Amino acid sequence: MSKKILVYSTVWCPDCKRAKKFFSDHRIQYENIDIEKDPEAMAFVEKVNNGSRIIPTIIFPDGSKLIEPSNAELAEKLGLQTRAKQESYDVIVIGAGPAGLTAAFYLAREGHQVLVIEKASVGGQIGTTQVLDNFPGFDEGIDGGVLADKLGRQARRFEVEILEAQEVTNLRRDGIFWIVETSDGASYACKAVLLTTGARYRRLNIPGEDELIGTNVHFCATCDGAFYKGKKVLVIGGGNSGFEEGLFLTRFADQVDIVEFSPQVKASQILQDKVSGKENMKVTVNHAVQEFRGESKLDSVVVQDRETGEIKEWTYDGVFVFIGLSPNSDLVKDMVEVNKFGFIVTDKTLMSAQPGLFAAGDVREGSTKQAASAAGEGATVALMIREYLKEAG
Ligand SMILES: Cc1cc2nc3c(=O)[nH]c(=O)nc-3n(C[C@H](O)[C@H](O)[C@H](O)COP(=O)(O)OP(=O)(O)OC[C@H]3O[C@@H](n4cnc5c(N)ncnc54)[C@H](O)[C@@H]3O)c2cc1C
Repeated sequence: MSKKILVYSTVWCPDCKRAKKFFSDHRIQYENIDIEKDPEAMAFVEKVNNGSRIIPTIIFPDGSKLIEPSNAELAEKLGLQTRAKQESYDVIVIGAGPAGLTAAFYLAREGHQVLVIEKASVGGQIGTTQVLDNFPGFDEGIDGGVLADKLGRQARRFEVEILEAQEVTNLRRDGIFWIVETSDGASYACKAVLLTTGARYRRLNIPGEDELIGTNVHFCATCDGAFYKGKKVLVIGGGNSGFEEGLFLTRFADQVDIVEFSPQVKASQILQDKVSGKENMKVTVNHAVQEFRGESKLDSVVVQDRETGEIKEWTYDGVFVFIGLSPNSDLVKDMVEVNKFGFIVTDKTLMSAQPGLFAAGDVREGSTKQAASAAGEGATVALMIREYLKEAG
């Protein structure tokens, strides 16, 4: 019997992708078996399903199986808490990244009843980070998954209730309460809501990207640049952030090249001048990045010259993608003030334009998109919410 979860799938099946993403989001090891490449696996799936070829067919280490399960069934199988114990709380925190978890345990430690609702797993973006070298207190760096688990345990130690694999789908006001609705149809009331839903780096959505994120495909130069001392890296994106981060990466890497999809770069002239003054930076425009090749590490980057159509294979040690950052603010973007990119505007108490609706961390305008500052904002907003609750009664 395998010790890992076995996912029998095909590359084109959307439910297979969803199930695998669910396991990845919860940092659960699994083995993917492509039944189209393995006749024995195909025969096994047909046998298990009485002659039908139903995917994903998922076999667990204890021999039990789930056929085409929903995320709720997967959550139940993994023993995750997806329903809250009470109907109302003092504060509901949406998003269990470093900002949300820090705020939650600050508030719970002071005796407030706090519910955290997370659509994936505790930790937020740090859960998908290989190593954080710049989180205070970890002098040798810390594995992102380990830090995520520590923050989750710290919050639970102060009796914060955390729901996982549960998405908040709607938020509305009802008199003095906020009503938070979740994807399973439940709704919970509270006096103050904290939105710490973070942001996501825009991805290229090309083959090889998902597999190599966190090893040789990165979205944060401050975070991961130091891993490329003396190496050769490619920056994707010729806007201000691509140029700024590219210049920053020259502190570590011997060669930093930038590739831009459009015929012209969009970075400011000052940044363009700085880059052209560097001997170890080269900018290529009008090239589309099409694929990252490599199994456990990046072997090459496939690009197409958009003028000639020529396909080229470039070799780099690592790739940094800077094609923009999108805030996860859809839930509230029509009820609060957001800036032109969708980040939530708050006052100096980190409250939005709606009384009792606070925001902290990456989703907030002016945040610095770093784990330590997200945790710091979590602590700050907790103290602000404490004052708000005193006045709200
Ligand atoms: C690959 C990578 C490497 C990084 N490396 C570093 C590093 O080395 N050092 C560093 O300081 N920073 C690093 N960062 C940045 C850092 O992780 C973020 O700045 C930080 O996690 C932001 O914290 P947050 O709590 O604001 O949001 P997030 O960590 O983004 O957490 C937000 C959470 O909200 C959840 N959520 C969103 N919408 C909903 C909803 N509707 N319902 C329920 N839940 C929802 C999300 O699933 C997520 O878990 C890295 C980021 C990435 C992606």
